Amino acid sequence: MVFVFDLDDTICDTDKYSEKYIRKYIAKHKLPYKQIATNVRFAEKKFDWDIETALRWYKNFGDEMISKFPCKKNAVKFLQGIHKAGHVIVIATARSTVWHAQPREVTLKWLEDNKIPYDKIYIGREDKEKVCEEVNADFFIDDDMIIVDKVANYFATVGVNKQAFLATTNYNKNLVVPNGVVRVKDFNDLTKKIMTSNHFMYNI
Ligand SMILES: [Mg+2]
Repeated sequence: MVFVFDLDDTICDTDKYSEKYIRKYIAKHKLPYKQIATNVRFAEKKFDWDIETALRWYKNFGDEMISKFPCKKNAVKFLQGIHKAGHVIVIATARSTVWHAQPREVTLKWLEDNKIPYDKIYIGREDKEKVCEEVNADFFIDDDMIIVDKVANYFATVGVNKQAFLATTNYNKNLVVPNGVVRVKDFNDLTKKIMTSNHFMYNI
């Protein structure tokens, strides 16, 4: 089976960690910004800085922050388990040079540091339904509702034995999932839903 995983807020705890990191950075360096929101998509939108300031900060300091992102609970165990069992892991992240100085280098190093196995990686891709098509994905996991919906629609056109999952995170936890998408709470829930699904009679 081929699994396609998003990285930020799917495998790693991006928004919550970034929020704390930026808040501390602002305090430590006595910058004239403050936090104005908690439950919004993207950590940079939680502060009262303009987009140019946020971009500049990310370009200068964001890669250092990314290198410290914690993995979500049981993510590494799950990924190592399926890889050992012979399944294919594809990572597809939209990280790009718009926001990051060296998205490829920092991402590859982070994966290595966290002992996350993968067979293929796409960096800087938002058209993840195309990625799924290219690698003939069976499962797709992402926290972005719009992206998951697009992949679910693509899966619906090619066969029943495929499933798109929405990884629950703070900003999406109360949103209603579209048809064809299954929400997962965490990696234990993902394991359970894959193993007990009517479509997928197989063990991981
Ligand atoms: Mg994400």
